[in-house]
Formats: sequence, structure tokens, C-alpha cells
Amino acid sequence: MTDTAKKRQIAIIGGGILGVTLAYKLAGRGLNVTVYERGDNLGGLAAAMDYDGARVDRFYHTILSSDTSMQGLMEESGVADKRHFTATKQGFYDNGHLYDFNTPVDLMRFPPLNIIQRVRLGLQIVYAQLESDWRKMDVVPVEDWLAKFWGRGVYQKVWKPLLRAKFDSTAESVPATYIWSRLRRMMGTREGVTSKEMMCYIENGYYTLIEALARKAEGLGVQFHLKAPIEEVVIENGQAAGVRVGGEVRRYDAVISTLPSPTLGGLIPSAPADFRALLNKQQYLGVMCPLLILKKRLLPYYVLNITDESIPFTAVVETTNLIDPQHVKGYHLVYLPKYLAPDNPIANWSDEQVQAEWMKHFKRMFPDYNVSDIAAFIVQKAKYVEPIRPMGTLDEIPEIQTPVARLYMGNTVMIYPDLGNGEAVTRYSAKVIDRVMADMVGWA
Ligand SMILES: Cc1cc2nc3c(=O)[nH]c(=O)nc-3n(C[C@H](O)[C@H](O)[C@H](O)COP(=O)(O)OP(=O)(O)OC[C@H]3O[C@@H](n4cnc5c(N)ncnc54)[C@H](O)[C@@H]3O)c2cc1C
Repeated sequence: MTDTAKKRQIAIIGGGILGVTLAYKLAGRGLNVTVYERGDNLGGLAAAMDYDGARVDRFYHTILSSDTSMQGLMEESGVADKRHFTATKQGFYDNGHLYDFNTPVDLMRFPPLNIIQRVRLGLQIVYAQLESDWRKMDVVPVEDWLAKFWGRGVYQKVWKPLLRAKFDSTAESVPATYIWSRLRRMMGTREGVTSKEMMCYIENGYYTLIEALARKAEGLGVQFHLKAPIEEVVIENGQAAGVRVGGEVRRYDAVISTLPSPTLGGLIPSAPADFRALLNKQQYLGVMCPLLILKKRLLPYYVLNITDESIPFTAVVETTNLIDPQHVKGYHLVYLPKYLAPDNPIANWSDEQVQAEWMKHFKRMFPDYNVSDIAAFIVQKAKYVEPIRPMGTLDEIPEIQTPVARLYMGNTVMIYPDLGNGEAVTRYSAKVIDRVMADMVGWA
């Protein structure tokens, strides 16, 4: 620990997985760190909730065996013995039928595609593994890339529903980079063409890791303030001087924001106008994601992708095909997500409206499932989930060092071309830390 580091006081805004990881790592470098979190608990999008004494993830969360940053954090924070690896299954719901969709071998047997389409799809997956220059794909619309090279049939049957599921009405402006990134992440968990997907969960949810990291961080002197929304980043002479919370100004040597870009934009009225405009123009998909707590299992799949556009949710995610139900008091957990473009009116639906619409289609899809086995229907939603990066806008990604001296930022907009997930943001924390530590040497 250097003397310079020892004296520095750092405020971190946001207690999600990124904020907690930054706090733990910066405290390990000898800094005095304070985390301010708006919510009642840490975790952000990866927070947990209680149902009948069981701790369940608010949104479905898995960690892949190839997520080296997350695996490392689990080991460092002492929860490695609570993780379990399971080979999960994926399915496709097409025209009222369920199909396995797991190994490349399943793919070759995927009935909605003809033999040529199946081979094309297999080649595409191999190609994505071999291609390392993602910038080439950033200027190509994903639809063009997929349809032109591999056929409209594969595009219509496989990719279009997957894109719709992930990007809602913004799918057309998404660059091909997205598919590259997704295929590489998913295939990274497999050892060979016949191998099954290996996913990992932590007993009592993803939050177990966040809690353990926070405890480690506290041991290193980090202070966590919950229910402490930052009202403003205080800027004096072009430099971040602290934060305003509960009407009171608290002074720091530097401030690191882990907030979604537009949220930070609203907290810095005295920052340069062009920087605020840059933050405010970053767009995100939201998610409407009801959680069904079931008494009986629904499906054998972790994820069932839905191709039928008349169904409002785009997947059925049964996390208890990964998590042993004994860790959630014997219940079965099913999430029915719908990603929402910024202008999708579903974001404003009441919980009752969501439940009525979702259940109508649930019953149509699963007529044999006894609805009396549904113990609860809990509507969960979030506004800033997956950044939308339109083609050819790489120069609009904000940088870690903002134009305000000693104000730093990190969030999912900045991890591009990675997708928004715990692995990518915790890996990105190293870049934020390097930047702050390097600058600190020059601070008066
Ligand atoms: C449906 C769904 C499924 C997902 N599945 C997976 C998965 O399987 N695997 C995976 O790795 N990832 C998954 N993710 C993504 C993962 O949750 C996120 O990438 C990750 O949690 C982002 O963490 P973060 O700390 O960057 O941001 P956030 O979690 O958004 O944290 C930001 C924090 O800032 C706080 N905040 C906001 N305003 C203020 C303020 N003014 N003052 C103080 N605090 C404030 C918020 O309350 C929040 O806690 C999923 C997300 C969703 C929604």
C-alpha cells in the first residue's frame, strides 16, 4: 500500500455487482472507500428477494464455467464451496411444439430447419468462434449479415425470434457484433461439439457472492450506506469534490459512478453540457420479467426460446433446472421475460394487466399445467438493463475518465462488445481501477 493510496477517500455511487467489486478491490489497494446505494439492499439488477423464507434472485442469474472473473471473485470471497455446476438444457417453442436446442448435434436435428439450413447454422457458430475482429461487424446490420450469408430460412426460424427476444423493436439497428459476442460467450462454456452447456449457480442466489464480497470489503474498511441516493455529484472548478446525499455535501478525493449513463447525467448539472448530452443519449432496453413460483416443475429446460410473436414473453426461464429446488424450499422458479425497447408501452402496464396478459398465453402454451400449482406471480421490471449500441456509434461510448476531473464512470454501456453480465462488468472493474490508480499519482 502506498502512502498516496492510504490517504485517498473515494466515493462509489451504486452498490450493484460492479460497485461492490470496485469497492473491494480499491480497498485492497489501500484506499478509503465509501459506497452509496439508493436501494434497501446491495445487488442492483442482481439483487435478491425473499419468498416464504427462501432467498430467490429478483431476475434469473447464472454464471458460466468460462466466467473467469466471477469464478475468481467467488474463490476470493470464500463462497466457492457454495457453487454448483450443472449441464442445462435449452429448448425452442415453435408452432406449438417443443424442441431440444442444446449441442451442435441437436442443432443438426432441429426439425423446423431443413438439412441445408442446419448445416449453415452450424457453420455460422464455428465462424463466430474463429472471427476475432469484431469491429468489422460493427457496421453491418445483424439482419443483413445473418440472412445474406446463411440464408433467410435460418434467419426467420432461429435468429429473428432470438433477436426479437433480446432487442424488441430495436433489433433492426443492432450490429452483427451482437451475434458474435453472444455465440462466443455461450460456446465458451462448452468443451467440444457434443458437450452440454455448463452453468453455475450459487446457493441462496447470486446475491450470496455480492454479500460475501461486501463483507470482505467491510473487513478492509469499506463503508456501505444503503437507502442513500446520491442527489448530486458536487463539482468545483471542473473537478469532482464530493457528493450530496440527504441534503448534505460529503467531500471526497474522487467519485466513481457505476450508474446507468442517463442516471449519472441527471446528477451532474454543472458538468459540461456536451458530456451530459452524451450520457443522456445512451439508450437501454428495459425488461418486464414476472417470476412464477411453482409447486411443481414446468419444463426440463433452463431456457425455452419462443418463436411465436403472439406470445408477449419471449422465453421461459426455469432456473430450478439449474438450481437444486432444495435450495429454494422445494419451489420451482420460472421467469417469463420480455425485453422492452425504450418506447414499448408494456413498461407502463399495471401489475394486474401484466399478470392477465401473461397468464392468458401461459395457459395456451401449457394447457396441462395445473394453475393451482402456481403459488405466486410476482411482477419484476427494470428500466436500464441492456444498452442499445446502434451501428457505427463506437465513438459515442463514454470513457472511464469523464471530462470532469476526478469523476470516473463504469457501466454496461462501456463494456461493448461484451453483453451486459456480471462477468463483463467485474472484468471491466480492473480498467476503472487502473485508470484511477494511475491518475492518483498526479493528484495534489
Ligand atoms: C432479466 C435479467 C437477467 C440477467 N441475467 C444475467 C445472467 O444470467 N448472468 C449475468 O452475469 N448477468 C445477468 N444479468 C445482467 C446483470 O444483472 C447486470 O449486468 C449486472 O448486475 C450489472 O451490475 P452493475 O453493478 O453494473 O449495475 P446495477 O446492478 O444496475 O447497479 C447500479 C446500482 O446503482 C444504484 N443507484 C441508482 N441510482 C442511484 C443513486 N442516485 N444513488 C445511489 N445508488 C444509485 C441502483 O440501485 C443499483 O443498485 C441479467 C439482468 C437482467 C435484468
